[in-house]
Amino acid sequence: MDIACWNCKAVTKLDKAAVEAAVAKMTATKLGFHDIVCASCGKSNRTARDLFDAALLTYAASPTAPTTKREATKKTKEENARRREEASKGAKKKK
Ligand SMILES: [Zn+2]
Repeated sequence: MDIACWNCKAVTKLDKAAVEAAVAKMTATKLGFHDIVCASCGKSNRTARDLFDAALLTYAASPTAPTTKREATKKTKEENARRREEASKGAKKKK
């Protein structure tokens, strides 16, 4: 998951292990949020536990999320191209 810093807008990327560690810490401390320290400016970014839980669900659904997302985008582009082709064929038939 990505945490965009409220102060400097730098994005801190958390991998699955980092998210799991944050959730484990919140469970241990019974807190509903976790402070992500910005690597760029050092400010704490208070992040709600809901966001970490949601991120974990995403990781569980697709362990290789970035690749899957890229493939999904490629698939969508191919489908759009096919639809455009079909649409142009349909237009020709009407003439
Ligand atoms: Zn920052």
